[in-house]
Amino acid sequence: MTTDLRTDFPTREALLAYLQETFPESAARDPHVSEIRGGRKAAEAQLDQIDPLNYGRTRNHLAGKVTRLSPWLRHGVLSLREVRLLVLTEGYSAEKLVNELAWRDYWQRVYVLIGEGIWQDREPYKTGVRAEEYAHDLPADLVGGTTGLVCMDSFVADLHETGWLHNHARMWLAAYVVHHRRVRWQAGAIWFLANLLDGDPASNNLSWQWVASTFSHKPYIFDRENLQRNTDGVYCERCPLARGGCPFDQSYEALEAKLFPTKTTRDYADEDGRGSYQKDTRRKGRY
Ligand SMILES: Cc1cc2nc3c(=O)[nH]c(=O)nc-3n(C[C@H](O)[C@H](O)[C@H](O)COP(=O)(O)OP(=O)(O)OC[C@H]3O[C@@H](n4cnc5c(N)ncnc54)[C@H](O)[C@@H]3O)c2cc1C
Repeated sequence: MTTDLRTDFPTREALLAYLQETFPESAARDPHVSEIRGGRKAAEAQLDQIDPLNYGRTRNHLAGKVTRLSPWLRHGVLSLREVRLLVLTEGYSAEKLVNELAWRDYWQRVYVLIGEGIWQDREPYKTGVRAEEYAHDLPADLVGGTTGLVCMDSFVADLHETGWLHNHARMWLAAYVVHHRRVRWQAGAIWFLANLLDGDPASNNLSWQWVASTFSHKPYIFDRENLQRNTDGVYCERCPLARGGCPFDQSYEALEAKLFPTKTTRDYADEDGRGSYQKDTRRKGRY
């Protein structure tokens, strides 16, 4: 293991060449280099771009005004407190953004309490599917970005090439992995952690568990209308399956019947007895 890494490079190209030479296995596995830059200067430039007023209204859309601050928050270049204070002192009405910063803080606190327990199912799946029925490994077509679903394959390419995904893309991809491909959430979590520049065990694993329903009272699923609306249809218009065969092009009731055919009311503790899945209407809910 290399312990004395150089830090003095005249150019970024020289840094990249050094990293490729020092970590040949990583370079061979994935040659992509993200455009996202590290360091305080880049973090402050990104901080200058935030738009807390429009954040709440547009954050569910892939082109919405999300901050993209997560890599610097993850690595301690920015603190949650600093971002919160900035947002509040600027006099913005930024409740939604402050709420989301709080989610990061919450997941960290859960991590402090349960430690490596974040890798275990916190509760049984509420899908009617037993934990042992989920596959252990990610399918090759998924990781290779060759599922034929333009949306999912594009998210996979973005993950590998940029090291960052919009929250909604993370949710859609995770729901596809766990519920449509029936793969245990841990496999997806490991994959995300290996590729995200903001990869964080607490936010990542507990979010995967939320989608899977092992740390929430219902599984999260979405329909094509939701994905299309929050992407302006850019993936569907290029997708051959949009004219037939799209697995998301169904009502929530039909999706639930297909994905969770053996689910009974005993599989979830629904206090109001109404819904039985996290229906992605984006009007309510945590994310
Ligand atoms: C399956 C899945 C895996 C995820 N993995 C990670 C991960 O490894 N690292 C990570 O930092 N976030 C993770 N998230 C949470 C969230 O997707 C990202 O924090 C967010 O998309 C980062 O983009 P942003 O900085 O533009 O966020 P913004 O929406 O602009 O929010 C500002 C900041 O608030 C925090 N935040 C926002 N939403 C969440 C959330 N739902 N949970 C926790 N913190 C949040 C982040 O620090 C973020 O940078 C994951 C979500 C899902 C569904």
